Amino acid sequence: MESRIDRIKKQLHSQKYKLTPQREATVRVLLENEKDHLSAEDVYLLVKEKAPEIGLATVYRTLELLTELKVVDKINFGDGVSRYDLRREGAEHFHHHLVCIECGAVDEIQEDLLGDVEQVVERDWHFIIKDHRLTFHGICYRCQNKKEETKD
Ligand SMILES: [Zn+2]
Ligand SMILES: [Zn+2]
Repeated sequence: MESRIDRIKKQLHSQKYKLTPQREATVRVLLENEKDHLSAEDVYLLVKEKAPEIGLATVYRTLELLTELKVVDKINFGDGVSRYDLRREGAEHFHHHLVCIECGAVDEIQEDLLGDVEQVVERDWHFIIKDHRLTFHGICYRCQNKKEETKD
């Protein structure tokens, strides 16, 4: 955790930004909830527990800055809410998401499944791809198991 904060601090420094206490509190919340996909409000409520003096506007600005610096990715799963997702260290692409339409669970696929697709797009559309977003909407294995159980 500390070493990751250190590296994020360096990343900010290299772009001439400081890791102020407010920014650090925000980064810590993101690290502690790495598996989640928190909205700005969610992040704000958690940061407030550590730094009660912080305002929602500051948290928003910090999240925007972290997005710009590619520390986090901003994502929308179609419910109109922007969520912030910590980028894995050394990840070349943004991980894929599986969103369950029944329970709302969000699972992550770290493996890049789009290599072939990117080649086609670059070749046929002369488009230089920098990143991509891939979200599948469907029914997760947990909900499928629940249905199986209620059958018998
Ligand atoms: Zn994610
Ligand atoms: Zn589900």
